[in-house]
Amino acid sequence: MIVILKPHPDREQLDNLIGWLREKGIQVHHSLGESHMILGLVGDTSRLDIDLVAALDIVEDVKRVQEPYKNANRKFHPEDTVVPVGSTSVGGGTLTIMAGPCSVESEEQIITVAKAVKAAGATMLRGGAFKPRSSPYSFQGLGAAGIEFLIQAKRETGLPIVTELMDASQLDYFDEVDLIQVGARNMQNFNLLKELGAQKKPILIKRGMSSTYEELLMSAEYIMSQGNEKVILCERGIRTFETYTRNTLDLAAIPVLRRLTHLPIIIDPSHAAGRAFLIPPLATAAVAGGADGLLIEVHNAPEQALCDGPQSLRPEAFAALARKLAGLHEFMNGGAARS
Ligand code: PEP
Ligand code: MN
Repeated sequence: MIVILKPHPDREQLDNLIGWLREKGIQVHHSLGESHMILGLVGDTSRLDIDLVAALDIVEDVKRVQEPYKNANRKFHPEDTVVPVGSTSVGGGTLTIMAGPCSVESEEQIITVAKAVKAAGATMLRGGAFKPRSSPYSFQGLGAAGIEFLIQAKRETGLPIVTELMDASQLDYFDEVDLIQVGARNMQNFNLLKELGAQKKPILIKRGMSSTYEELLMSAEYIMSQGNEKVILCERGIRTFETYTRNTLDLAAIPVLRRLTHLPIIIDPSHAAGRAFLIPPLATAAVAGGADGLLIEVHNAPEQALCDGPQSLRPEAFAALARKLAGLHEFMNGGAARS
């Protein structure tokens, strides 16, 4: 971090600032310019409140040269992180495919879809039981019963399960859930993130619809700073002026996050696009762009779905896409795709 001081800073205030920084374990290097004195701060400045320093009378400007996140930062952890999830793992050159309906609607529905996506090559089953709906009058999910049906589908297929947790009070139902999803709307629910940081289970955190990369990484940092390092990031489309698609899929998230962090990156084309015909091209673009995996909504009867039918692929369309993705991933990586 670089602190640019106003001309002729008050000596006592400057000594206080330097003393305060040193107490925090930060080394301070001075350099005297024509008109300004500059302080170069060396050490872990991630816990330093930049606004507090900037507000001091003697300070003209403060610039960060180091990102405010540490645990998630690739600089401190150069190797890609591989997150174990049930019988599988995410990251490190494999292609994860999480597939299933938006919502668990019945035991029969989730088991039918689970068998179909498993046969098509999915590596994880998704399905919402606690649903964050924009309208209180829309289907809110089956709750605890939905989780039971997911567990049943896991027993039948062997697929690890991923499902959304909206509130820490729901944790009791998540014992047999393999991957806990934090939805876009909860990305900055900091109390929830802290609670999940105290858990041992891996967490899939979705990017908020108006959140920057840095905000997403700071949310991952909330979880990691509490001791849970098993975090997977998910880009699911951001809000832009475009209305044709539900959101705008930000594929630049893949190379940008890859550079900034060691955490695995999943792309969700379903919530980004909102329309089924867009899923195959966006999913292939994501794999070509280096994503560690995809989250794709699949429904056995999209026209009857209680949630997100228009963006759901039928099992046959998903199977054709999964075949293509496996071949593309192999081509891109020169290695075998996970089966
Ligand atoms: C979901 O995956 O079911 C979901 C609600 O997604 P998002 O939080 O990205 O809107
Ligand atoms: Mn959905």
